[in-house]
Amino acid sequence: MNTKLPHGLFIMGMLSLGLLLTGTTQAAEKTGATAVAKNVENVIDYSKYGRKGAKARKQWLKIPEKAYAPNTKAYCDALWMRVHEENCPDLLLIDKKKIITLELADMEGWRIGESGQSGRSRCCFEGYRRMYPEKLIPEEAPGIVQTLKSGALKWQLAGCHRFLVNSNHVPMTQREAKKAGAFVCEHCIERGPSLTTASMAALKEMPSTPEFISPEGWTPKPFSTEHLPTKQEIDLLIQETLALDYSILETPFEEPMASLEQFMGMRFFFPVGNWLTFYQAYRATGDQRILESLRVSARHYRDLCVEYPDVAALKASDPEGMAFMYSMAVSARLTLQLARKHPDQVSQQELAEAESFLKAIVATLKPVCEGDVGLDSEMGIPKALADDFRRRAFNRALNGIGTLAMTTAALEDLQAIRETTTLNPQIDRYRKCIQEYFKNWKREGCLYTEDDGKTYFYYPYIAGGRTKRVNGLLLGGADDVGHFSHSMQGVMLVHDATPELGADDDFMTAIANSVYHNSYTKNGSIQCPSADKIQPLSRKPFSKNPKNRFYMFEAFRDGVIEGQNSKLNGNNTAEINSEYSYRLKTLHAQFLKALRKDQSLVHLGEVM
Ligand SMILES: [Zn+2]
Ligand SMILES: [Zn+2]
Repeated sequence: MNTKLPHGLFIMGMLSLGLLLTGTTQAAEKTGATAVAKNVENVIDYSKYGRKGAKARKQWLKIPEKAYAPNTKAYCDALWMRVHEENCPDLLLIDKKKIITLELADMEGWRIGESGQSGRSRCCFEGYRRMYPEKLIPEEAPGIVQTLKSGALKWQLAGCHRFLVNSNHVPMTQREAKKAGAFVCEHCIERGPSLTTASMAALKEMPSTPEFISPEGWTPKPFSTEHLPTKQEIDLLIQETLALDYSILETPFEEPMASLEQFMGMRFFFPVGNWLTFYQAYRATGDQRILESLRVSARHYRDLCVEYPDVAALKASDPEGMAFMYSMAVSARLTLQLARKHPDQVSQQELAEAESFLKAIVATLKPVCEGDVGLDSEMGIPKALADDFRRRAFNRALNGIGTLAMTTAALEDLQAIRETTTLNPQIDRYRKCIQEYFKNWKREGCLYTEDDGKTYFYYPYIAGGRTKRVNGLLLGGADDVGHFSHSMQGVMLVHDATPELGADDDFMTAIANSVYHNSYTKNGSIQCPSADKIQPLSRKPFSKNPKNRFYMFEAFRDGVIEGQNSKLNGNNTAEINSEYSYRLKTLHAQFLKALRKDQSLVHLGEVM
């Protein structure tokens, strides 16, 4: 199709190229349509998409050119100005999409075959060569202005992965924003125009949380690892927790399809911070309102599962995506665990709601985890899932595995309460999945007992990579402190829900030993002492700042928190540890310590 380009259209295209063109217009005009078509691609200045963005797009030009008929169907996204091929694996809700011809899509400047948050993935129309330039974000495009911490104003399109829109943000067109002195988000420039915008009315209707007002004269102090804080200190911690947003991550767009597309692009694999916080804060205090905070997002994602089962199942097709059901699984587990132990503390309505979360999860996971055909010969679970276990970076999978563990324990609670066994096949399969995941992870990682009798665990960043072993020690490739700490949040869920499947106290202790040891080195990657002696490693540079995501391991080895603080000077230590999240994590470690003594403990409030 590249050979038939009317000259008039070519001129139109060139005119709207604007600043993108270098001085090659004249030369291009003389060489005829085919050459022109190629030339447009060559003269697009990808450098405005940043280093990574430009690199990804230049890579596409290396795919051999492929001819597409001008009337080839192009399926239009609802959020970003992108079109896809009929067989594109990223195409969602295909029967609801607007269809145009590929030729028109090109002429109008749609991004062709791009996906991912910044459009750096090529999902379809491989080898297609554009004839017209990509459309820029119009000056009149509606967007949102955000005031950064520095005071600078940033204009961006609603749905940009770098920020969550709320009703305090100011809607403005690009022109208005520039006049007000705002700069334009570079990710938005790279991704290109949006086809919709946030509904400010819908944003105002979204559930909101109370503001935390710090009492006059109150100076927060670090919590002790040994003694419980005063009741007043715990009450304030609860108030601070209740002020956190519920973390419903999608923007309510004017066009609902756009919200689903945004959902698919979201990465839930680092635990959504506030969900993790609510979970730990409930365990540390037993405050029912915190459990209710978890249920707000759980309802939202349950409704998504029920209304759009295909979208939910696609998202949950690997452990990384499964974590979108984290607040559903965790709130159901907490509710049902409490209901079994203290039936008078849970209402019938809360029970029914927890059950509805679990039903939605089970239905969503059916195509992913269930079935007996073509199982993986080694793991005995669906092959696609087994293959994913073997290749997905551990830090990206473990919070999904934790979600699965919480679901499993909650289903067991539910069956005990309802006195039924109908979900046993699902429970057995989920248990198998978790167990196989941990077996594979431990095989790739390294459980090593040092001469002093202490066992250490560490593992490589990459799954399925070629790793080196010397005398039983894993050398090279050990995960960095940051990613390691994310992985551990998933492990903690497995420990709390199904410890017998791979995260029992001994294993947690082996991790605590590694974390403790690392805090007294300057190595950016976590290994055991013997491996560090042979070949210390820093996948990322070592940081002297404490990682409070490790504080929970204080429950498995005394001194972990002190170790995390060992590179700070005294004043700094108190200042940092009096911050909200550090106080919370310190108290949560006390819950885990108490749990080791009493496995039936639901929350620390039971022993306060
Ligand atoms: Zn596509
Ligand atoms: Zn942006």
